[in-house]
Amino acid sequence: MFDNTEDSKTKLSELGEFGLIDHLTQHFKIKHPDSTLKGIGDDAAVIDHQHKTLVTTDFLVEGVHFDLSYMPLKHLGYKAVMVNLSDVYAMNAEAKQITVSIACSNRFTVEALEEIYAGITKAADLYNIDVIGGDTTSSVKGLQISITALGEAKEEDIAYRNGAKPNDLLVVTGDIGAAYLGLQILKREKEVFKVNPNSQPDLTEYTYLIERQLKPEARKDIPELLKKLEVKPTSMIDISDGLSSEIMHICKSSKVGANLYEDKIPLDPKVISTCEEFNLDSTTVALNGGEDYELLFTISQNDYEKIKANPHLTVIGHMVEEKEGIHLISRMNTKIPMQARGWNTVDEDE
Ligand code: ADP
Ligand code: MG
Repeated sequence: MFDNTEDSKTKLSELGEFGLIDHLTQHFKIKHPDSTLKGIGDDAAVIDHQHKTLVTTDFLVEGVHFDLSYMPLKHLGYKAVMVNLSDVYAMNAEAKQITVSIACSNRFTVEALEEIYAGITKAADLYNIDVIGGDTTSSVKGLQISITALGEAKEEDIAYRNGAKPNDLLVVTGDIGAAYLGLQILKREKEVFKVNPNSQPDLTEYTYLIERQLKPEARKDIPELLKKLEVKPTSMIDISDGLSSEIMHICKSSKVGANLYEDKIPLDPKVISTCEEFNLDSTTVALNGGEDYELLFTISQNDYEKIKANPHLTVIGHMVEEKEGIHLISRMNTKIPMQARGWNTVDEDE
């Protein structure tokens, strides 16, 4: 676990604010010279997008959104970028630039910030993103990171939450529920560690779940895939809070209802076996878990042929008239009204 208080490490005060910013940002190279006219190094960045510009911000606060006793700093930097890019992809747009603002207390060292920036750099390289600015300041307590992402899309390609129509198909990417279970595993290990700091847990059997929690991947590929398939989603959202609340967001914005089929929800086999181990209902976990950063969207029935064979996409239901409401159709074929946090609450101990 993390110890960033060793004497051998460099105090933030040794570099000073300007030295620190230079140190952390010196290696960023511009990847989109056509749209990033000026990146880090002036009072403001200068951007020139060919199409519409999309802007989104997420704020991550230590103790609220992450726990450094099981979140390595490099992963935190990576995940902070992913949660923002995910919001851009959820508009069916391409992410191009980010700004990064960090506040931290003097318990953090230069080496700790280097780790966070190693994660940010890795994410920016893999997802082809320019880091164009930010702010660096001290905080009285803990670490806070706020990232803003800029994206670009043709106006006609942008997918909002409010375009779903009755009879549209409801589609989800990838599989869901794993990130929530990954968090449960990490919390369990933290408790074990508190009691016995010498324990050497073997978590390899849970690698997939833990990676989904600590190193989520935003679905950059999905807007690209949909373009290739010539499918324009009628509505779209990313799954940050759990399938049920995202479905409800689309329904509310679009003024429609929905039927979600329990037996269609895509679950990894490891999610099913771990739910059995933890005595959790896998449907409840999928509905309420969150942090999967998959995309949820609706398409016209006419587009079904174009997506049906795709291994990344699963049709999990369809939209209905608003007055019919939002329901889960269970494996036993009963119709259960859906609530904001699913139809049954996952045990929450935060
Ligand atoms: P100002 O005082 O004008 O706000 P700063 O000294 O805070 O400028 O920042 C100098 C440059 O470094 C600016 O381009 C700013 O966007 C960038 N910058 C500052 N902090 C960060 C950071 N944490 N990550 C990336 N860029 C940063
Ligand atoms: Mg500043």
